[in-house]
Amino acid sequence: MIPLEEAREHVLSRVGTLPARQVPLDEALGLVLAEPVTSSEPIPAFANTAMDGYALRAADTVGAPVELEVVGTIGAGDDGSLHVGEAQAARIMTGAPIPPGADAVVKVELTSPAGGPGDRVRVEASVKAGNHIRHPGEDVAAGEQVLDAGTVVTPGRVGLLAAVGAYEVAAHGRPRVGVLSTGDELADTPGPLRRGQIRDTNRRTLLSMVAEAGFEGVDLGIAPDRPDDISRAFEAGAADCDAVLSSGGVSMGDFDYVKVVLDRIGDMRWMQIAIKPAKPFAFGLVDGTPVFGLPGNPVSSMVSFELLAKPGLRAMAGHGADDLGPALVRAVCGDELGHRSDGKTHFVRVAATRDERGVLRVVRSGGQGSHQLAAMTRADALAVVPDGARLGVGDPVDVIVL
Ligand code: AMP
Ligand code: MG
Repeated sequence: MIPLEEAREHVLSRVGTLPARQVPLDEALGLVLAEPVTSSEPIPAFANTAMDGYALRAADTVGAPVELEVVGTIGAGDDGSLHVGEAQAARIMTGAPIPPGADAVVKVELTSPAGGPGDRVRVEASVKAGNHIRHPGEDVAAGEQVLDAGTVVTPGRVGLLAAVGAYEVAAHGRPRVGVLSTGDELADTPGPLRRGQIRDTNRRTLLSMVAEAGFEGVDLGIAPDRPDDISRAFEAGAADCDAVLSSGGVSMGDFDYVKVVLDRIGDMRWMQIAIKPAKPFAFGLVDGTPVFGLPGNPVSSMVSFELLAKPGLRAMAGHGADDLGPALVRAVCGDELGHRSDGKTHFVRVAATRDERGVLRVVRSGGQGSHQLAAMTRADALAVVPDGARLGVGDPVDVIVL
């Protein structure tokens, strides 16, 4: 058995980063920028008001209350060319440009209509020059680099890219990930199963994990335990996708032709990792395309995805070495999580709750069998229990939140 870290390093040393390409901004969410983005213009581009109210000269409000003549109204989107002179004010709406002549805004709550002829306003409070004015370049200066290469595009950054007019960005590709199930026992039909059959769950689970991780999933179907079918499926997947995930056939069974086939068509390393579940794992290249051979048991394939495939795919997508996951969160044991030493780190399915003090407490969530998918779905997290550790109630433990 090899340590998990060694398997992970092996994967990371062999996957490449997908090349950069120009991507429409609408498709950039979650991608990693390949080039820095600079704003050619200041943001805001012009002085504008942060409040609905009146634009005026601060000097005219000394000794408030004062009455001023209202010369017009400026809405957001107006060009704001109206001039405000001495003892005058312009009604102004949030975001509208500050008119020439004015140097401050009084919010509408501090004003009231003045009586008498003409359009006049009574200003109740005196203000300083600059009051409620958003200045040009206050958020972004002209020529400023707003995003570095390597930055992940988040919803706020999509907005920022739009703000600087970057409707196309240079980003690393979103990995297209083929997902293949293998095994003669697998069925994918709603009706009754014949004895010996089970329904294929891994393909749907893994396609969902791929989608949730922000990658593009490609359904490669089910390959029966026949060398020809298996090799056709892997070769087609490798040709069409940036990476292929298969499940099943990586353990020691007699009909595990996946191993035979991948060794013939690819350059694979077969690993036994010192973890439970998800001990067997394979990684290699078929025609230059990374292939992750995940174990067949449903819980194992999920854990293997979290620990090994997802970090590898994130590296392909251009995420930095310190941002590949899985993220560890500190929790405390709500029950005993120890196990007898077997040379493996155990990933224990746990339910997590926050206690009154905000501490995350974890307890076993139920069945720990690697075939028990229903029990897995009751878990909120995987507790990382080192080999032979005997963790008692209240002991700290790292968890991977699912
Ligand atoms: P294998 O490594 O192919 O021997 O598979 C190990 C276990 O996982 C067996 O019990 C398989 O029936 C099961 N298994 C393999 N592939 C899948 C799948 N796609 N969905 C559900 N169970 C599977
Ligand atoms: Mg099998």
